[in-house]
Amino acid sequence: MPVPERSARGGWRFACVRGCTLCCRQPGFVYLTEQDVRRAARRLGLSAREFERRYVYRTPYTLRLRKPRRAACHFLSDSGCLLHPAKPTQCRLYPFWPEILEEPGGWRREADFCPGIGRGPRLTPRTVRRRLAAMKRAYPAQYS
Ligand code: SF4
Ligand code: SF4
Repeated sequence: MPVPERSARGGWRFACVRGCTLCCRQPGFVYLTEQDVRRAARRLGLSAREFERRYVYRTPYTLRLRKPRRAACHFLSDSGCLLHPAKPTQCRLYPFWPEILEEPGGWRREADFCPGIGRGPRLTPRTVRRRLAAMKRAYPAQYS
């Protein structure tokens, strides 16, 4: 799989900024994999069934946190994500999402929003491809 767009200067760099929670406050949905549900449930000391009953909206094709599109994620606390280090796959793999990497100019536009883009060590195209592929594997209903 080719890397769809090269960052113009400095290659691909990303390192999340400690204390920043901007992306958790964005409108939108948080999609989950079945494994995300099990991991998050363990993190909170719940059974997967109970976690799903309380927090998950399941459709025939997708699982997502039960939150209105415009509301902040209910796992966001003053000290960060309450699920960390078991946070959902889409949160873990942001900003290596197809809708960012495969849109012309998407990475540069996202850098205006996410202060972590352009920081940290340079990532190899192989690493970028692996993360992009992991997103597509995790959410086949969205990306097939
Ligand atoms: S917006 Fe970027 S830097 Fe801020 S928390 Fe999200 S990934 Fe990290
Ligand atoms: S699950 Fe955690 S990382 Fe993901 S949006 Fe919610 S607070 Fe942020």
